[in-house]
Amino acid sequence: MKEQPSSLNKKQTAAGNSVLNQNCGQLYIVATPIGNLQDISQRAITTLKNVDVIAAEDTRHSGRLLKQLDINTHCIALHEHNERQFAENVILKMMKGNNIALISDAGTPLVSDPGYHLVKLAHQNNIKVIPIPGPSALIAALSAAGLATDRFCFEGFVPAKHGQRKSFYAQRTKEVRTMVFYETPHRIVDSLTDLCAEFGDECRVVMARELTKTFETIRNDSAKNLLNWVIADNNQQKGEIVLVVQGYQAISQELLSEQSEHVIRTLLKELSLKQAVQLAVEITGEKKKKLYHFALSLKEEVSKGSESIDII
Ligand code: SAM
Repeated sequence: MKEQPSSLNKKQTAAGNSVLNQNCGQLYIVATPIGNLQDISQRAITTLKNVDVIAAEDTRHSGRLLKQLDINTHCIALHEHNERQFAENVILKMMKGNNIALISDAGTPLVSDPGYHLVKLAHQNNIKVIPIPGPSALIAALSAAGLATDRFCFEGFVPAKHGQRKSFYAQRTKEVRTMVFYETPHRIVDSLTDLCAEFGDECRVVMARELTKTFETIRNDSAKNLLNWVIADNNQQKGEIVLVVQGYQAISQELLSEQSEHVIRTLLKELSLKQAVQLAVEITGEKKKKLYHFALSLKEEVSKGSESIDII
């Protein structure tokens, strides 16, 4: 996101004030449920009841949640399209001593949701920012995925258009960390198709759908099996979806024998990647996944000009 100078910021930095402004209100970043109302924390409820104003992504949507929780605090809209403009107004309110809570439609604000400009501006104006942690689809999916969690990266929404999505996935095939993506139900078949093409059919993927809700589904399988399952069952093309994809290193740690490497190299001189891998599985008895990833890495070396074999 591009950073833009703010008039509020200029006034404050001119004063050279780097300590928190004690006369100002505070900004609370409050996580709300991603499906199950019971996931709201006691601290979130208390905060939302006690602040002067709640800045919500969609006041009508959040109004339903607040009503259920018996919270009557005044709400104002702070969504993606008005964030820069309204952030300054919110800061002015806090400068007058008002405490403000930011919430999004669901989960943790700023995680693929508005709030970045407001939080940045609050820091620039020495206003205290207090997180009230709680649900996020990203962490919920990761915690239940059964893939490595020691290192991971969150990549937000997968691009909507086919070409962009393919290159987005292609750029990440060598990512060693577990990857977490947000995806929409109407694009899930196309997205898994592109994922298979770029990461390979055997890549391990977890689809976490409708987390914390009645039809919660979490499936850990190969990309190809997941794709077939989603195509066969229309229900899997509904609701909210997180994709968690195994990182490259975890796969490439399984090394091929020298002989198997020789076989696949030789076959790749005459055959397409798919044919070479299929035949190599029969000849060597190695796992398709290992051969596929080795063949893919050879192909990439060739395209960078460091290998001299011909690949169709
Ligand atoms: N701020 C939210 C968070 O902390 O997770 C994310 C907001 S983003 C606009 C919405 C996306 O998050 C959905 O399209 C979906 O990919 C994911 N998501 C949200 N709730 C979910 C749920 N209950 N189950 C699965 N994915 C969910």
